[in-house]
This record gives sequence, structure tokens and C-alpha cells, in this order.
Amino acid sequence: MIYNFSAGPAVLPKEVLEQAAAEMMNWHGSGMSVMEMSHRGPEFMSILAAAQRDLRELLAVPDNYQILFMQGGALAENAIVPLNLAGLSAQVAENNQPLDQAAQFDYICTGSWSVKSIKEAARYGKVNVAADAVASRGAQKFSLIPDRASWKLASNAAYVHICSNETIDGVEFQCAPKVDVPLVADMSSNILSRVINVADYGVIYGGAQKNIGPAGLTIVIVREDLLGYALPACPSAFNWKIVAEHGSMYNTPPTYSIYIAGLVFQWLKQRGGIAAMEKINIAKSNLLYEYIDSSKLFENRVQKDCRSRMNVPFFLRDDSLNGQFLQSAKDAGLIQLKGHSSVGGMRASIYNAMPIEGVQALVNFMREFESRQA
Ligand code: PMP
Repeated sequence: MIYNFSAGPAVLPKEVLEQAAAEMMNWHGSGMSVMEMSHRGPEFMSILAAAQRDLRELLAVPDNYQILFMQGGALAENAIVPLNLAGLSAQVAENNQPLDQAAQFDYICTGSWSVKSIKEAARYGKVNVAADAVASRGAQKFSLIPDRASWKLASNAAYVHICSNETIDGVEFQCAPKVDVPLVADMSSNILSRVINVADYGVIYGGAQKNIGPAGLTIVIVREDLLGYALPACPSAFNWKIVAEHGSMYNTPPTYSIYIAGLVFQWLKQRGGIAAMEKINIAKSNLLYEYIDSSKLFENRVQKDCRSRMNVPFFLRDDSLNGQFLQSAKDAGLIQLKGHSSVGGMRASIYNAMPIEGVQALVNFMREFESRQA
């Protein structure tokens, strides 16, 4: 038995892969693989419509939000967000300055992915880092979420951007912060893992390759009144209003990734939806954190109330054992546990498709490894 702890592209539900394999050569008697279908034909149109409908149902997305299936990944979306929302900046409206000079954005910096999104946004306007977790540095570079009360938000920002789950650092918002302007969240690595109130957000986006499906698909959920504020320089294929008006078909969408994502959405619905997944995700992450906290050999360095349920970085107190740990974990069928190079150590990503048995197997292995060192 292999358990795959990759941070992404990541493990997918076995049942989904089996169904995709069975349908690979001939989808529903059509004589075609999904990869071979015209994206405008009735077969693929039905796949796309079902995927959008099921995602809307799973996240209880209100009617005044559009669900867009795009390409480019979350890193491209880091730029697409300011490109689409710059026009909202109060300063732009009041002073009638050139848009690319005047737009103002608020960013909350809680980890490595926040840093990247700040860098992108700075090309399209003035970024105010309203709170920076690096400034409150703990045992690792990013290990907490600065208190909402300490945020220094700009008065004229187009939006406030957060990364709801820092995949590398293992830091996660436990609820949506209250702000007065649209809240934009990069949910690449925790979308569909916990119940959220979509109405708390103006925009939710994320790459699919962690908790949804294969790489290539980027999900954007955007409130309709935020459409139409793009910079003139925004490419048409990245302009949310244009993409929405064309039902995510302005250009060829990532058809096979959408198909697999659709199967994952059905798999989630069969398992009781997001509330049921959240319960399992709490149990899985508790199991791992409780063991790590009780261990004398391993440690997690994130402040307890900001710990991620999806990505659990952990460290051996003696770094020189890392190689031995990773090799014997691999030999035991526990793979892709190496931490991100910027943080080091190990990281267990335990998305929806990781069964609790996988986490149990990891904890049993870590316990055994620890007893061998004693
Ligand atoms: N944001 C977060 C939170 C991520 O985890 C990642 C990918 N690891 C990205 C952005 C970048 O996504 P992509 O590689 O799809 O561009």
C-alpha cells in the first residue's frame, strides 16, 4: 500500500482514477476519449455544466457569484487578480489618474505564497502590506497569522488579499477575516477542505492540483458586481468579465482537467459533501499534530491556532536524520514527504483524497522511527 503525501500535484481519490481509466478510451459510449472531444460539442458541454453545478452545490455558491474555469495556475492568477480589480481602487476613481499608477491593493503576508502574490500585484499598482507575519517571526520564518486588530489597511484599497492556506509554511486562516472592501483569497491548497461562507469573499481562486484534480485548471469564484474593473492591458483570456460572458469558453478550457475535477466533485458529494470532509480533515490533522506535539524527536513550529489542516511541516530535532527518515518512510510506502526546499525538514500534505488510514500509517511509522532512535 502506498500513501502519497505530495503537496501538489497530489493524490487523487482511487475511485476517481479508476472511473477515469474505465472511461479513457470511450466516454459514455461516445466513441471518444474526453481528451479528444471538441470543447463546444454536447458531450463536453455536459461535462462542464455538471462540474460547475456540482462545485456550486458543494460550496453553496450564491447565485450572484460566477464560477470560472481558467488556465494559468494560481501564480498567473496572482497577476490576473490585480489586472481585473485595479479599477475598483477608490484613488483611481477620485483622481482619474492612469490606472496602472494609482491602483492600491492591501495584502496580508503570511507565507511564501503571499510573498509571490505581493510581487505580482506590485506590477499593477501600489501594494500596501497591511500585516506581515515575517515581522512577527517565530521559530520559523512564517509561523502565524498576525492578529486582525494589528492590520494597517489602506483607506482606498481595491481589495484585501489573503492566502487562506500557506502550502509551504503550513499556516492556515481558521475563518475569513472581516474587512470593508472585497476579500480576495488564494485557496489553492484548502479549497473544499472545510465549510466556508462564500459570501464572505469577493473572489476565491486556486489551482486545482492539490485538492481538486490535475494541474491545468484554475478555479475562480467571483462576485458579479466585481466584474468590469479590469485594466485595459488585461489579456482578454484573463479578463473575468469576458470569461464569464463566454461561460468559461472564451478560449479552449483545460478539458481533461475539468472532467477529472467533475469526477472529484461527484466523489465529494457521495461522501456527504464538504461538512463531512471537514470532520475527517479535523480528525486527520489532529492525529498527526497530537503525535508530533507529544514526540521528543519531531516538532512543528507553527503557532497552534494557525496550523494548517492540509499541509503539516515537521522537523526532526536532529536534522542529520532527515535522509534516513525519508528513505525508510519511502521503503514503508510513505512517499513524497520531503519538505519544501525553502523550509527544509518534512511536510505531510493530507488533502481530502488522503484517507485517515494514510495518516495513521504515517504516525505509526514516525512513532516506530522515534523508538529506534532512543
Ligand atoms: N498559491 C498557493 C497557496 C500554492 O500552494 C501554489 C502552488 N503550490 C500556488 C499559489 C502556485 O500555483 P501554480 O503552481 O498553480 O501557479
